[in-house]
Amino acid sequence: MTTHSHVAGFLHETVLSFDCVLPDGMLILDVGPHHSDERFRKLYAVAAWSHGTVCTITRMRLRCIPAKPYVRLTYLPIVNGVDGKSYHEEFRQLAHSSHSFVEAQVFSRDRAVLMWGDFSDATDPSIPINRVHAWWKPWWFKHVEAVLRRHEESSPSPSPSGRHGSSDGAVVEYVPIDHYLLRHTRGIFWVIRDMLGDNLAYILGEPTFTVFGMHVPNPLLLLGWLYPPRISFLKFTTTPTIRLWTFTRQTFQDIVLPIEETEAAVRRSEKLFDVFPILLYPCRVYESEYGLVNIDSAAASARKLQGKTAFKECLDEKSGRRYRMFFDLGVYGVPRLVREKRFEEYDPVREMRSMEEFIAEAGGMPFLYADTCMTRAEFAKVFRLTTYDEVRTQLFPAMARAFPHLYDKTKSELDLIRGALGEIEGEASPPGPLGSPADKKYS
Ligand SMILES: Cc1cc2nc3c(=O)[nH]c(=O)nc-3n(C[C@H](O)[C@H](O)[C@H](O)COP(=O)(O)OP(=O)(O)OC[C@H]3O[C@@H](n4cnc5c(N)ncnc54)[C@H](O)[C@@H]3O)c2cc1C
Repeated sequence: MTTHSHVAGFLHETVLSFDCVLPDGMLILDVGPHHSDERFRKLYAVAAWSHGTVCTITRMRLRCIPAKPYVRLTYLPIVNGVDGKSYHEEFRQLAHSSHSFVEAQVFSRDRAVLMWGDFSDATDPSIPINRVHAWWKPWWFKHVEAVLRRHEESSPSPSPSGRHGSSDGAVVEYVPIDHYLLRHTRGIFWVIRDMLGDNLAYILGEPTFTVFGMHVPNPLLLLGWLYPPRISFLKFTTTPTIRLWTFTRQTFQDIVLPIEETEAAVRRSEKLFDVFPILLYPCRVYESEYGLVNIDSAAASARKLQGKTAFKECLDEKSGRRYRMFFDLGVYGVPRLVREKRFEEYDPVREMRSMEEFIAEAGGMPFLYADTCMTRAEFAKVFRLTTYDEVRTQLFPAMARAFPHLYDKTKSELDLIRGALGEIEGEASPPGPLGSPADKKYS
């Protein structure tokens, strides 16, 4: 998902067709939604979200759009209730707007900065250019937070005159397109803050310090070029102990939920994890006859019938396809109970399963590269596996022999984590169902 997904949908919607190798060694060309053989239309549909469990893709044809050298980016800080505004409501409106990019960072339950951007040639000299990815710049989330802080510190304006002035706290910048696309990279969103610890992150994250009233550059910024650590390096150095710590002491959740649920999702996340900032990206989810992602799950339809959710269904006039607006809830970091060292009260499996229950009820789905603790039956309610199973076991039976099932490949390795516990000398058992009989149902 990207901040352009409210316009284009998930990235896989831009894949016109792909070439792939099946487990029996056969190379299949041009697998796409209009393939003459229905088996390959089904294969195309289930490849998205399949995490390499149906075939190996060797080439893709992607739909591209022309870009411009800059993004004209507006930041709008909102404190709920002030000036009668709600960032949830504004976010929902932005999700249905034609701006090329939309994103929100939520800094506490009622405080957020909404951002929207459009391709630009940067012709207005009154708008500053901000190279946000330059190594000497503050991490981007710190820059966004500063916009919110400045807004809160300034006296509230009785009548905002417009977005591009500063009366409603809005800030406008031109950001070079490559800097925009890489804006979250140096700070790995805000995860680097948790990796380094608050103090070191503060020292490394501030571009200037105030000494005797003067702003002096931070000499440690010379280390800025070291960011970010390579993900492959981090993965390579992840021992079972570190993996265990990541699971029990941090949370990384990327969840796709109907846009009507933003308030409930932020509240639920605060109750379970209390990690801020939270990231929100809007995303169209298109109807798909065969795909794993189901926009009308049984649970979601039941809520609709009970009048608990007012779904807004839309029609993409270009393609004639139905879609609904969803959003990504990104929660990355150290939960409050862990930050406060109240380990015995924090139960990662219980909190994750509580979030997963909410996802299933709301008709959403978790991204599968993050930890998931659903049972097989729960997984089958969230993802529509009918065509996926048919493709793997009936249309191309070699697939089920060569590749694990999506559920088995992506579920959290609770057994291994429990096993690792025994190997860590002197390590206190993590709380809750890990290592207790209760987790048998998840394994
Ligand atoms: C710091 C960070 C930030 C992220 N931010 C975002 C974000 O903003 N939006 C978002 O959508 N995602 C985000 N992600 C998730 C990321 O996009 C996914 O993890 C992505 O799948 C990574 O792809 P990869 O090729 O690097 O990983 P890999 O682990 O190599 O592959 C991912 C899966 O795809 C399968 N696969 C790989 N190659 C092929 C192939 N040729 N054919 C078939 N299957 C294959 C693999 O078997 C594996 O299951 C983020 C991840 C990280 C670490």
